[in-house]
Amino acid sequence: MSEITNEIKKRRTFAIISHPDAGKTTLTEKFLLYGGAINLAGSVKGKATARHAVSDWMEIEKERGISVTSSVLQFNYGGFCINILDTPGHQDFSEDTYRTLMAADSAVMVIDASKGVEAQTRKLFKVCVMRHIPIFTFINKMDREAKDTFDLLDDIEKELGIATCPVNWPIGSGKEFKGVYDRQKKEVELFSETHKGTTTGEVKTVDANNPELDWLIGTEAKTNLLEEIELLDGAAAEFDQEMVDKGELSPVFFGSALTNFGVETFLKHFLKMTTAPLPRMSDQGEIDPMTEPDFSAFVFKIQANMNKAHRDRIAFMRICSGEFQAGMSAYHVQGKKEVRLSQPQQMMASERKMIDKACGGDIIGIFDPGIFSIGDTLTTSKKKFAYEGIPTFAPEHFARVRQEDTMKRKQFVKGINQIAQEGAIQIFQEFNTGMEEIIVGVVGVLQFDVLKYRLKNEYNVEIRLETLPYEYIRWVENEEIDMSKLTGTSDMKKIKDLKGRPLLLFVHEWSIRMTQERNEGLILSEFGRS
Ligand code: GDP
Repeated sequence: MSEITNEIKKRRTFAIISHPDAGKTTLTEKFLLYGGAINLAGSVKGKATARHAVSDWMEIEKERGISVTSSVLQFNYGGFCINILDTPGHQDFSEDTYRTLMAADSAVMVIDASKGVEAQTRKLFKVCVMRHIPIFTFINKMDREAKDTFDLLDDIEKELGIATCPVNWPIGSGKEFKGVYDRQKKEVELFSETHKGTTTGEVKTVDANNPELDWLIGTEAKTNLLEEIELLDGAAAEFDQEMVDKGELSPVFFGSALTNFGVETFLKHFLKMTTAPLPRMSDQGEIDPMTEPDFSAFVFKIQANMNKAHRDRIAFMRICSGEFQAGMSAYHVQGKKEVRLSQPQQMMASERKMIDKACGGDIIGIFDPGIFSIGDTLTTSKKKFAYEGIPTFAPEHFARVRQEDTMKRKQFVKGINQIAQEGAIQIFQEFNTGMEEIIVGVVGVLQFDVLKYRLKNEYNVEIRLETLPYEYIRWVENEEIDMSKLTGTSDMKKIKDLKGRPLLLFVHEWSIRMTQERNEGLILSEFGRS
């Protein structure tokens, strides 16, 4: 086997998803601690100083305490090279999360044990299920008063429609949290607060049949545990790797990231159950990283102006096969051109660093002179295949954009176009008028705030957003159609996208069907093509 295949086999690339404040950052910090990437937990986000060190480019994140951007971290542990893809914690950015999931081979959901699946996170977690990749659940904050364990699992199963399989089981919670029971080994890992912030804290384990357990966790806790385990063994799904691989069964772990309890156990199990880089579909069939020798990658995210001083634009790509070397050239399939991949970078704990090598499974950021789009493929293979595209979500909120200062038309057009290219918003125009009126569509309303903020800060353009009542968008798929003859409902609006393709906006869902009935042969589709 080639050296590079060996390297790829070590890669474990996953996205980490959570509701804000569930503990994603804390858990990531502890992972890095085990990997020796940082010496002290806290380097990723030590509230005051480094809180946003990794994605420190947007005040809005600080103001709202949410992460709008996602970043990538790499560390080594137990012979694996692990890439963690961070995702925005708010469901208004679920499209961004979906794109990030496209670059991942599995996902870790962090859930706050006192809250379960929160309303705001439902959509975010659902996009995880849509990707059909292995999903692992870490139920965090067991050192706080938690919801009933069975209810928590029920929540996940009902809300997300996937089966769960607890790998371990918590004994109590909050002040009464005694530890977790390992269902496979049939032993109890005892909780103690002493290993906070260190990797060295010895975790004491006791066999479940050891009489000592009675006084270690108390008779009542032990009786409860035995009852729950009996119930669980009868009711819960058996562990089934094949179902895990398909994303139909989520292995569940319990712990407390803050006190560093259950984190290493999780990491160890997770690394065994998750997958090395998987084959991916292209227009010329499946490309398998284990057999395809040439470099190939696809762009899943574009981010401009991450660093105000440099006004740069970075295209994040997932390497799918072969080896990447700094400064190399590759064929940009969509651009039909050879391009030099310059200034490759990776995020390492709290800083960006230049890299000179990477391989299948890794995520890199490349300087983008404005040529890449989301979903584009780069490859050195003579086959010039293109990876399957990344779907765009249908926007659900619309607003008319007005400039406060009409003199700044040029900056405005440039700014709004660049932000649209990043995939943060979609822009449309009124069907009959010229460029003057721009309609913006977003998946989550917070994206409006981001647009406003970024236009002001990066392009010095103030805008006013006038919210429109439409919630449904449909692309008109008919090749030839006279839009002026199309008769719709009174709540319908005709618009076009930047390529001039006609679309319809509706306030009510039922109007879609009525419009179709009124116009014979009209083909409407929910998803846009890029
Ligand atoms: P994120 O928004 O998901 O990244 O959440 P953070 O990692 O920033 O955590 C949010 C808050 O919860 C912080 O104040 C953490 O210190 C706290 N926290 C994280 N994990 C735990 C835990 O296991 N137990 C307790 N009690 N607090 C935690």
